[in-house]
Amino acid sequence: MSTALVYSEKYLEHKPSRGHPERPERLKAIVEALRRAKLWGTPSVKVIEPKPAKREDIELVHDAEHVELVERLSKSERPLDGDTPVRKNTFELALLAAGGTIDAGRAVLSGEASNAFALVRPPGHHASRARGGGFCYFNNLAVMIERMKREFKLRRIFVLDFDAHHGNGTQDIFYEDPSVLYLSLHQDPLTLYPGTGFVHELGSGEGEGYTVNVPMPPGSGDAEYASAMGEIFVPLTEQFKPELFAVSAGFDAYADDPLTQLRLSTPAYGWLTRFVVEQAERLCKGRVVFVLEGGYVLDALAEGVVNVVKTMTGEKPPTPVEPRRPSVIGELKRGLASYWKL
Ligand SMILES: [Zn+2]
Repeated sequence: MSTALVYSEKYLEHKPSRGHPERPERLKAIVEALRRAKLWGTPSVKVIEPKPAKREDIELVHDAEHVELVERLSKSERPLDGDTPVRKNTFELALLAAGGTIDAGRAVLSGEASNAFALVRPPGHHASRARGGGFCYFNNLAVMIERMKREFKLRRIFVLDFDAHHGNGTQDIFYEDPSVLYLSLHQDPLTLYPGTGFVHELGSGEGEGYTVNVPMPPGSGDAEYASAMGEIFVPLTEQFKPELFAVSAGFDAYADDPLTQLRLSTPAYGWLTRFVVEQAERLCKGRVVFVLEGGYVLDALAEGVVNVVKTMTGEKPPTPVEPRRPSVIGELKRGLASYWKL
């Protein structure tokens, strides 16, 4: 089994603004911790230098107007929104983040690696077809999926998003698309940005039943996540039978994250990954692509990523804690009853 990590030092050059939480130190801490854990540039963990995405790759997902807007704002350094400043190099680095994610997908689907983690910045899951925001310019994961669909004729891709924020961009892009099943575990949108991701948002048109949201009340932690993975993730993946898993890996559901009120521990990232790797091994030759999203406590972020990568390389994580059902699961199961057996 071999794991690929996609990384470039150029990703450290993305500096949105002074004091911005989405800062270069995040990725520095991750790389240092992976090196210390001997999970960097070894026979089983290879590091790939990314290439930038082409404009036509980005336009598989985003409107040409949005791509032009990010390019134009990069010249004038005017922000996309209050949380999402734009610098001279933003357009170029956003292309490199999407390109790195494509490279991770290609490494897995070509058989060069069994699984891959795109350690990229800026993040992507809040970027929808027509707009960015929430620290995101282009949706790295969605661009990778659309590119891989074409290169490898994929028909079913399962997306798990465990960032504490709802991936409104990813949901929006695939809302009517039955080839992508989007499952998000996130903090209750009544209490956190971006205010979407309610249980009743289930997709529309052909895509009805292919968007699944598990909003967690503030204070939820390992026990609630274990329940969502066992009761929702496992049966959904069994029935959907994906050819590829793609994971929006954010580490801001961690207990002390300054941006959120969830209570996940760092070992939880190991067993969350085990759920995905196990299903991928059963259903699609172990093919999983992780993409970095949020996570703002440097130590916990680095430890979380190390626990993910260890599990990707086949190390056994601790067993999940005893599950405790978050209150929304009953309602979610009723809402999904006409689409899936849960
Ligand atoms: Zn987040």
